[in-house]
Amino acid sequence: MSKIVVGGVEKFSAVDFPRRLSAVVFMQGCPWRCPFCHNASIRDIVKETDFSWDKFFEFLQTRVGKLDAVTFSGGEPLVQDCLAETIQEVRSLGFAIGLHTGGYRPEHLAKVLPLVDWVGLDIKAPFVAERYQAIVGVNHLARVLNSLDLLLASKVDFECRTTCDPRFLSVDDLWQIAKALKEKGVKKYFLQKYRPIDSDKTTTDDDCERLLTDKDLLDYLKQNFVGFEVRR
Ligand code: SF4
Repeated sequence: MSKIVVGGVEKFSAVDFPRRLSAVVFMQGCPWRCPFCHNASIRDIVKETDFSWDKFFEFLQTRVGKLDAVTFSGGEPLVQDCLAETIQEVRSLGFAIGLHTGGYRPEHLAKVLPLVDWVGLDIKAPFVAERYQAIVGVNHLARVLNSLDLLLASKVDFECRTTCDPRFLSVDDLWQIAKALKEKGVKKYFLQKYRPIDSDKTTTDDDCERLLTDKDLLDYLKQNFVGFEVRR
């Protein structure tokens, strides 16, 4: 079996898989170009990094009974073709499986979905092709919508979430996203605060908070999405 290329690992996390303690593997390679990315070095799809899947798997074997889950994050996990086989390997140890994705390659998501216990789907912009293109540099909106439909049709627990970068998103944009998700039948949606990247010297904390404190929007989100919260 070919091995996944690992861009980084987090051996213990209480925040990457709801209500479960998980180890996180950051998979190398990402087709998105999020302006709020804190991990640009993980974007390039390369064959080798300083991390090894075998070493991480050895570590996981020592965590059986101590951790609940393993979360596949990125980068964009759906880039790498051997994801399903790798998940099977981890499942055989008894861990629950979490997946973070932007919805790239829905045909690949369809393959791994039966092996996954929870998915966090990033919604990066309102559902308008030009906005996706402008914000993340690629127009993969159709893929995102197909992935969302797959999740809605599955029995897999999932959430949608948006990183609220005030340089690119407005309160109106968040309204648009929230209403579109509600219309589609999404039950869980969360807002995530943007933390300025090193090269962003102008965005202030007040700018970031302004997107997260609109009372009407917050009331709508609380009323329409289970367990809604702003993640800061
Ligand atoms: S999906 Fe993640 S790794 Fe990829 S560009 Fe966006 S923030 Fe960076």
